[in-house]
Amino acid sequence: MRFSSLSELIRLCEEEGLSIAQVMIAEQARESGQSVEAIREQMAGYYRVMKEAVNRGLRDNPRSRSGLTGGDAKRVREYAAGREPSVGGEAATAMAYALAVSEVNASMGRIIATPTAGSCGIIPGVFVSSQERFGWEDERLVDGLFAAGAIGYVIANNSFVSGAEGGCQAEVGSAIGMAAGALVELRGGTPEQAIHAVGLALKNSLGLICDPVAGLVEIPCIVRNGFGAVTALAAADMALAGVRSAIPSDEVIGVMLEVGSAMPDKHRETAKGGLAQTPTGRKIMKELYGQGTRHEEKEPDGQGDEA
Ligand code: SF4
Repeated sequence: MRFSSLSELIRLCEEEGLSIAQVMIAEQARESGQSVEAIREQMAGYYRVMKEAVNRGLRDNPRSRSGLTGGDAKRVREYAAGREPSVGGEAATAMAYALAVSEVNASMGRIIATPTAGSCGIIPGVFVSSQERFGWEDERLVDGLFAAGAIGYVIANNSFVSGAEGGCQAEVGSAIGMAAGALVELRGGTPEQAIHAVGLALKNSLGLICDPVAGLVEIPCIVRNGFGAVTALAAADMALAGVRSAIPSDEVIGVMLEVGSAMPDKHRETAKGGLAQTPTGRKIMKELYGQGTRHEEKEPDGQGDEA
């Protein structure tokens, strides 16, 4: 890639008069040796999986294998249909869709890891709800996924995108940043505004620990995806309104690395701290596994089928 930081990405966009998505598509085609059509088609396939996960989550109301979670997407959907949600109807829809995809993941269904399975609901929640709201064609959302991918690429190469390495700030936080930046571009904002949205969003999740109850990507992961979708909408709106990240977004990514590196092991997906070790968290773990923890037998931040 010809960029390794968000500032370099903006510079490329400005010098070449391209959007973030266009830069990413060109770079990916060059690096992979594939045609633009081929990589777009692959990304379109990922977007179809995302939409199907939203639909499946709402339609089938899946419960997780552990029996701990499921049904929250439907609850939010029904609540939003019957009453005026405090966050507004559109944000409630994004929230319900994000919960739906996360519930599909918890039920071992097919999702796209964006950037991980634990944070798989945020981008579909924001994208699918925005598509319905603004009447966008799939092709436009495919561009959005490339923009999100460029942002995720920079974060992954300068900090972390997994809870086991850098806490939930790295997973849910990164997904919020990716969704926010991409949404700014989808709504006609400049690359600079999109990058400010990333910094604004990431700042709001710095320090968020990874503490999944019983080592399962369910509690608190699913609701964090719901919150994440709403935060991404808010960050995009702030950036589109002209709010800037006073600390440059690349520096915020550096802080995420610093904070994640200093995080104790117990707050990095081991289920040895945080919510996982509350009296209720321990009780749930004991009911599921006896005295042991499932952590020893699980893959980092897995769950459903990733694509
Ligand atoms: S709490 Fe941990 S496992 Fe759950 S979404 Fe956050 S980073 Fe992933």
